[in-house]
Amino acid sequence: MSLPIYQNFVHGKPLANASGETFSVTNPATGCVIYHMEVADDFIQQQAIESAKQGFAVWSAMAPIERSRILLKAVTLLRDNNDALARIEVLDTGKPIQEANCVDVLTGADVIEYFAGLAPAQVGTQQPVGDDFFYTRKEPLGICAGIGAWNYPLQIACWKSGPALAAGNALIFKPSEETPLGAIKLAEIFMQAGMPAGAFNVVQGAAEVGQWLCHHPDIEKVSFTGEVGTGKKVMMGAASNLKDVTMELGGKSPLIVFDDADVSEAVSAAMLGNFYTQGEICTNCTRVYVHKTIYQTFLNELKTRTENNIVVGDPLDPNVNFGALISKQHKQQVLNFIESGKAQGAKLLTGGTELSPASAPNGYFVAPTVFIDCHDEMDIVKQEIFGPVMSVLPFEDEVDVIKRANATDLGLGAGVFSLNIQRAHRVIHQLKAGICWVNSYGNSPAEMPVGGYKQSGIGRENGIETLNSYTQNKSVYVGMTKIDSPF
Ligand code: NAD
Repeated sequence: MSLPIYQNFVHGKPLANASGETFSVTNPATGCVIYHMEVADDFIQQQAIESAKQGFAVWSAMAPIERSRILLKAVTLLRDNNDALARIEVLDTGKPIQEANCVDVLTGADVIEYFAGLAPAQVGTQQPVGDDFFYTRKEPLGICAGIGAWNYPLQIACWKSGPALAAGNALIFKPSEETPLGAIKLAEIFMQAGMPAGAFNVVQGAAEVGQWLCHHPDIEKVSFTGEVGTGKKVMMGAASNLKDVTMELGGKSPLIVFDDADVSEAVSAAMLGNFYTQGEICTNCTRVYVHKTIYQTFLNELKTRTENNIVVGDPLDPNVNFGALISKQHKQQVLNFIESGKAQGAKLLTGGTELSPASAPNGYFVAPTVFIDCHDEMDIVKQEIFGPVMSVLPFEDEVDVIKRANATDLGLGAGVFSLNIQRAHRVIHQLKAGICWVNSYGNSPAEMPVGGYKQSGIGRENGIETLNSYTQNKSVYVGMTKIDSPF
C-alpha cells in the first residue's frame, strides 16, 4: 500500500516543492513509517516569504476585532475536530489517546481563544508634555517564525500562532520533523475560518530549514521550543538581523515534599510530573526531594501505584495511560541514562527496562522508572532525560534543600508540597524557576505566563505579556506649539 505524501502549506494551500525531496514519519508505537512529508526546499522557502509578506499586509490591516472573530472560528473548528486531530497526535508522537483527547487539542484551542479575546483590548497610551503630547501605538512586528518540538506538536503550533496572529503578525511555522502533520491541519483550519492566505504558512524539515528561518532578513522574531543546545544555535542565527527571540527550552525541575505534606497528593504530583506523556514534558519534576521522615512512606506508595496503575500498550487503546517514546534513538538515550544511573550507584525502586507490550510489541517503550539512593552529582539527577525516569532524593533541612534544588543551570519548573502555607510560599519564592506549583504540578492554563529562568528560556508563552512580546511600541510625539529652534 502506498503511503500518503504531504506537502508544505503555503499561501492558503498545500504547495509542491521543486526538488521532490521528502522525509518519512514513523509511528513510535509500531515502528512503521506512516507517511512522507515534502521538505521545504529553496522554492518553498521563497514562496513562503513572499506569501507571508502578502498575508501580513492583509492581516495586519484588519481591525483587531475582525482578526479575533476569525481566530474564534478556528477555535470552534479545533474543538469540533478534536477526535480526529487527537488521533493524528497519537500516531505522530506515541502518546496515549486518553491524553491527546482531552489535553493536546483543547489546550491549544484555549490559548488561541484567550489571545483572540485580548486582541481588540490592546490599547496605546496618550500623555501630555507641556502643551505638546505624545501617544503610543502597539504595532505588529511583521513576519514571525515559530519552531516547534515534537512532544506537543499541535499544542505548540497553537501556543505560538495564537499570540502572534492576534497581534497582527504573519507566522511561518516549522514543526518538528518527527511530528509534522498537526501544524498542517491547523493551517487548514485557519483557512477554513477565513484567515487570509499567507498569514499562517507551514514549512517542513529539520535543522537546515530551522536555520533558514533564523537567518532570513525578512523575519522579525523567532519563537523556539526545543533543547537548550538548539536554542543557542537559534539565537546565533537570529543575531544575523537582531531578531527578537522567545526561547522555551529544557528543564531539570525539582519537587520538594515536606514532612507536613499530604503524601498521596505528593505521589500523584510526582507521578504526573514524570510519567504523563511517558515523561516527555519539559517541566517534569525529575528531581523529587522528599523529607527523610516521610521518605519510606512516600516510596512505598510510589512503588505500589507505579506498578499497579500504569497501563502500557497501544496508545490508541483508551485504557492505556502510558505510551511510546518518540523514536528508537530517543529510547536508546533514555536507556543509556538508566544504565548510567545504575553504574553511578543509584538503586532502582521500579522499572529500568525497555518494554514490549502485547498490543504494541514493536513500539519504543521504556518502563516507568524510579531511582532511589540518588545523590546530586549523578548524571540522572543533573541532566534532562526527557523520558519516564524519576530520581528521588531524601533531605532534612529546608535551607539545604533549597540550595540543592537551585544547583542547576536550568530553571523551568519547581514544586513544593506542604500544608504549611508560610513555608510553601517562603520556599517557592527562593526557587529559581519560572513556573512554580504549590500542592499541584503541571497545570498550565492559557492565562498563566510560562517560561524559564536561567538556561531554560527567554521570554514567556501565554498570559498577557506574551501578546505584548509580539508587538512593538511606536511613540508619536505631536507638536502643538511653535518649534523653539536656535537655527
Ligand atoms: P530539538 O531542539 O531537537 O528540536 C526542536 C526544533 O528545532 C525542531 O523543530 C527541530 O527541527 C529544530 N532544529 C533542530 N536543530 C536546529 C537548528 N540548528 N536550528 C534551528 N532549528 C533547529 O528539541 P526536541 O527534541 O524536538 O524537543 C525536546 C526538547 O524540547 C527538550 O529539551 C524539552 O525540554 C524541550 N521542550 C521545551 C518546552 C518548553 O516550553 N520550555 C516545551 C516542549 C519541549
